[in-house]
Amino acid sequence: MEPLRDAFGRSLHYLRLAVTDRCNFSCVYCLPNGCQRAPGEQPLSLPELGRLVGAFADLGFWKIRVTGGEPTVRPDICEIVRRIAATPGVRKLGLTTNGYRLAAIAPALRDAGLGSVNVSLDSLDPERFRQITGSSQLGAVTGGVERALESGIPSVKVNVVLLQGMDDAEIDRFLAWTRRLPIEVRFIELMRTGENGAFFGRNHRPADEIRRKLEQRGWALLDAGRSEGPAVSYGHPDHLGRAGLIAPHSAGFCESCNRLRVSSTGELRLCLFGERVIPLRPLLRSDDQRDELLELVRMSVLQKPASHLLQEGRCGATPTLAATGG
Ligand code: SAM
Ligand code: SF4
Repeated sequence: MEPLRDAFGRSLHYLRLAVTDRCNFSCVYCLPNGCQRAPGEQPLSLPELGRLVGAFADLGFWKIRVTGGEPTVRPDICEIVRRIAATPGVRKLGLTTNGYRLAAIAPALRDAGLGSVNVSLDSLDPERFRQITGSSQLGAVTGGVERALESGIPSVKVNVVLLQGMDDAEIDRFLAWTRRLPIEVRFIELMRTGENGAFFGRNHRPADEIRRKLEQRGWALLDAGRSEGPAVSYGHPDHLGRAGLIAPHSAGFCESCNRLRVSSTGELRLCLFGERVIPLRPLLRSDDQRDELLELVRMSVLQKPASHLLQEGRCGATPTLAATGG
């Protein structure tokens, strides 16, 4: 099938789908006061999600990542995964989670067809973990990573947001984990959002700092052509796993953008830091709206911007990544 292309010729085939905007953690850069918003519109139901994913698969979207908020707060998360995995045309299905329920549900997620899980974990030190997330469940999260591997989920990655206060000992603890486990630990630059401006100013650290530290420790860049996204991966002869870097503030980050996002209430976002929000929910009520839905998405992608404007301090209509499905 001819891939869907935006006005800049970028081929779009990756959908990041938020299934809730709720979360049980209160990460300092995301929801520092916890999930404060009054429950508003309900998140998309299973039938609505089924129609949405079916339509995107018809448009050539073969890669889907379920995110949130915290997707595993939804009691039907395994059913959501099963439904998406069974959608004709979907070849890769991943989940991004804070990991607090992973130890309990990893085998069920694997049986439902989950191909990859990204666990967000910013510190392996219990006190620093608590300061960042507001949660004392570090053991549950690290246990979840190990359980995901034991359950046979094919790809397990750990996302670490770079913050001031992360010292060399912390970096080395994360790298040590990759010595015996086939995981990829990816260090991600903090991004500015509508609600974290002051925090961002105090905490942003360029990914280049970590790049240098990796090189000093004998890590080498792996074939960049192999990565299917903005991450670059590093390998080390003594480590089973890998390290990775994601630098959204670096030049050229958007050139290879292949993704669209849909919020938990069915709003299409053309760019994580864009202004435009296109409501799809009115076209998810019944199966016979599919043609209209396909047409709306086809027309909308032509408005996808060339690049975000984070370098200019503009983060679009994104209050937090939890609200938009980071
Ligand atoms: N709750 C899930 C989790 O934490 O993995 C999924 C949603 S969370 C918004 C997705 C990812 O976005 C997490 O890895 C989180 O660390 C990251 N994130 C949230 N806000 C961010 C920010 N301002 N800059 C960089 N990464 C951010
Ligand atoms: Fe919740 Fe994820 Fe945001 Fe942390 S990063 S507050 S776990 S949505």
